[in-house]
Amino acid sequence: MKPTTASFVTGLRCLLCNTTFENGNLHTCPKCGVQGILDVQYDYDAIGTVLSSAALSGRPFDHWRYRELLPISRDAVLPHLAVGGTPLYNVPQLAAAVGIHKMFLKDEGRNPTSSFKDRASSVGVLKAQEFGFNTISCASTGNAASSLAGLSAAVGLRSIIFVPERAPEPKVTQLLIFGATVVRVKGTYENAFELCREACRKFGWYDRNSGTNPFLVEGKKTAGLEIAEQFGATIPDWVVVSVGDGCTIGGIGKGLQEMRGLGFIDRMPRLLGVQAEGARPILDSFLSGKDLIPSSTNTIADSIAVGTPRNWRRAIQQIKASRGEMIAASDDEILDAMRLTARLGGVFGEPAGVAGVAGLKKAITQGLVKPGESAVVVITGNGLKDVQSAKLAVGQALDIEPDFRVLEKHLSELSLI
Ligand SMILES: *Cc1c(COP(=O)(O)O)cnc(C)c1O
Repeated sequence: MKPTTASFVTGLRCLLCNTTFENGNLHTCPKCGVQGILDVQYDYDAIGTVLSSAALSGRPFDHWRYRELLPISRDAVLPHLAVGGTPLYNVPQLAAAVGIHKMFLKDEGRNPTSSFKDRASSVGVLKAQEFGFNTISCASTGNAASSLAGLSAAVGLRSIIFVPERAPEPKVTQLLIFGATVVRVKGTYENAFELCREACRKFGWYDRNSGTNPFLVEGKKTAGLEIAEQFGATIPDWVVVSVGDGCTIGGIGKGLQEMRGLGFIDRMPRLLGVQAEGARPILDSFLSGKDLIPSSTNTIADSIAVGTPRNWRRAIQQIKASRGEMIAASDDEILDAMRLTARLGGVFGEPAGVAGVAGLKKAITQGLVKPGESAVVVITGNGLKDVQSAKLAVGQALDIEPDFRVLEKHLSELSLI
């Protein structure tokens, strides 16, 4: 008999030494340590017998529709929040400005806490419950934290979140409103991360840090599954994703490959990974072919400002397997993409959220992507998460007296009338 937990999971394979371990509450490889990121393995033959497009057509359009491809037990009680099932937009005006024949946006800002991270946290809280934890913890300055706080609230788990002292006040407030205990550490993100890991070990809390927890990337994978199902035979030439730790693009690549294996798409799109110019250790490793060298970070795209990424190997493996490319965008290019995406696509993304648009535009200029091709860009987070950065991309409001003649004067100066 197969265990009822994670019924289609066959084991956990180390991406470094290739050893497969039994499915269970593991984080990194017992043999390789923190470098040994584990990858969840499935029985795809068995999944193929149940997961057909006919079976999918009867299910709600959220990411639990792919539950056979997720490491969760058949009897898990799913959170009531609507995770995934995000819309895909055809944006011809933006395509023209970016210089590509056809372009689509997948708006991940539509998730419950307004970022892509909800796909991972929703799986994380279920794993915590399955393994019998009542407290879950992570270290983050931003989206992973607010997402964990929101999803924990939804399922009734206690969340304890470590933030560095410079964490922006709006993000700390988002954590507090969901009822998380917020520990503000006088130090850097790395200090908060280490303290969180130690607390998880000593106090028996579940560790949600997605760089090292193999189950979270499976949640991120569902964006790839969705892209494949939404496009089917019209899958674009490129899937463009912003890259910090590397879990998101690694997960999306895995999801696309699984859907190819299951026959939902007949070819693998190429992945374009986009880093910020001020935080590009994965791009440097991709170009040099050497192991990753941690870097310092300096970019407005805080959600991808990762100097010591933990999932770089998975990211590069997936990008290479898709015959993909990587590129970096500067802060100015990201701010420009923020305006373009909002004004020509109608989608307001945070800096890391629109970095893909900036990277795609640059990749076309450099000839990595051809103007005659097609691309879907994953907009990973909503712009209201980081209004300070958005302000850098825009002008001022008109401040006027409540007087019609004053209004007329201003509007005519702007040639609006
Ligand atoms: C986390 C995040 C990313 C990058 O994901 P990684 O797994 O760290 O590569 C991109 N955009 C946003 C908005 C994020 O929150």
